[in-house]
Amino acid sequence: MNFTSLGLSEEILRAVTECGYTEPTPVQAQAIPAVLSGGDLLAGAQTGTGKTAGFTLPILQLLTASKKPAVGKGAIRALVLIPTRELAAQVEESVIKYGKYLNLKSMTMIGGVNINPQINKLKGRVDILVATPGRLLDHLQQKTVDLSHVEILVLDEADRMLDMGFIRDIKKILAVLPKQRQNLLFSATFSDEIKGLADGLLNKPAMIEVARRNATAELITQKIYPVDRERKRELLTKLIKDHNWFQVLVFTRTKHGANNLAENLAKDGIPSMAIHGNKSQAARTRALAEFKTGKLQVLCATDIAARGIDISELPHVVNYELPNVAEDYVHRIGRTGRAGSEGEASSLVCIDEHKLLNDIERLIKREIPVVQIPGFEPDPRIRAEPILNGQNRGQGGRGQGQGRGQPRAQGQGKGHGQGQGQPRAQGAGKPQGTGQGTGQGRSQGQGKSQSAPRPGGQPRAGGNSTSHTGGAPGHVQLTVGGGLPPPLHRSGGRGR
Ligand code: AMP
Repeated sequence: MNFTSLGLSEEILRAVTECGYTEPTPVQAQAIPAVLSGGDLLAGAQTGTGKTAGFTLPILQLLTASKKPAVGKGAIRALVLIPTRELAAQVEESVIKYGKYLNLKSMTMIGGVNINPQINKLKGRVDILVATPGRLLDHLQQKTVDLSHVEILVLDEADRMLDMGFIRDIKKILAVLPKQRQNLLFSATFSDEIKGLADGLLNKPAMIEVARRNATAELITQKIYPVDRERKRELLTKLIKDHNWFQVLVFTRTKHGANNLAENLAKDGIPSMAIHGNKSQAARTRALAEFKTGKLQVLCATDIAARGIDISELPHVVNYELPNVAEDYVHRIGRTGRAGSEGEASSLVCIDEHKLLNDIERLIKREIPVVQIPGFEPDPRIRAEPILNGQNRGQGGRGQGQGRGQPRAQGQGKGHGQGQGQPRAQGAGKPQGTGQGTGQGRSQGQGKSQSAPRPGGQPRAGGNSTSHTGGAPGHVQLTVGGGLPPPLHRSGGRGR
């Protein structure tokens, strides 16, 4: 399929061709005709699928073709609600890019910046408004925006907006929109809350769902690096330096953690900055720009701040700390391996996080290969501690931080290597131990009291150490197969 068969105008096709797109992505192939037909749409698609063009292109077309009488200055015709500032800016960039041959005006409306230039801009013509809910509500309260002519509403990343506590703001905004309008809702996940929102908002919507990247993430090489809590930074520095990783997006659980890590990596000689909601918009924009050009080697981010960052072909995502919510892992690794390029998602996992890892592997329905870096083997004497700092959902606007990410004790040390219990199913039929090289085959689990739990607290069934280890290039050691290896050693993968 190509774009010409989708019914888009010549001006839009020209702009799309200039972007280098040759064929529509699956979400575009389905969403564009659905939106052009004028009906409501419920789309299951996340960032990285091309969903922005999926709604922007047909909106541009509809607004251009609309027979409605010209409306006054500041009367918005299409409203796109977006959870975060960065994503809002990116979406408006797309609107400008795809609409460059059209006579439509757009505007980004986000918090964290002076409101007056926005008020001034609204005095002129704005056809398409891309806004975060909090700032839009401020404008509504000040009566500086007119939403009474909105023909099309988009709720983008609706799940994230609800996670961030925007539901009340959204409802207030919906209340002032004209009843007669077209509604498009995009969400990566469908919780009951999203379904409730969709039921109340959408009228006989077309429904599309494109494969989630996590379901098919062949292009993303995922790895677990077991390490002690206190040695994560040391290991990260080593990995970055040994492998000469550039453009590394590192996720931490808290803003404080992101700041600390960025400072410490910089001390280790690795140019790094943190990006999160406590930073000024200018600082966030600068960090992102430097990261995109490759000037900044590492960007440390919390989930909310990184949400929606579109950096194509991002080679490395590191989970410095696993997220409290398994689905955030999917969002995080979705930053890499995009647009057909390969990416690597590495997770530094300490004993506190085994339960989280278990949740993630259940969600993505696969075991993530474990790579043990020699010299960083977890100390078996260290016990799991509760993770108490999960409340890092405080960025991107107002009223965030509710709902998920509550402190939660994990890895309670159940089943400490007693040699009982069931071995965990190892990805049925997955070939193991092939092509791993020969290495020195260090024997594992013998003469050691390796007693930390397997992820989720399931001890591997005891037995002789039959695991193979492969001395893969780059002095990474891999553990494959059964036996009684230390925690988290299970399947192999090339240690790059
Ligand atoms: P999105 O999911 O909307 O954030 O888009 C992800 C990335 O895919 C962006 O960098 C887009 O520029 C790019 N993209 C969107 N549509 C296409 C397409 N049809 N072909 C190639 N790249 C695309």
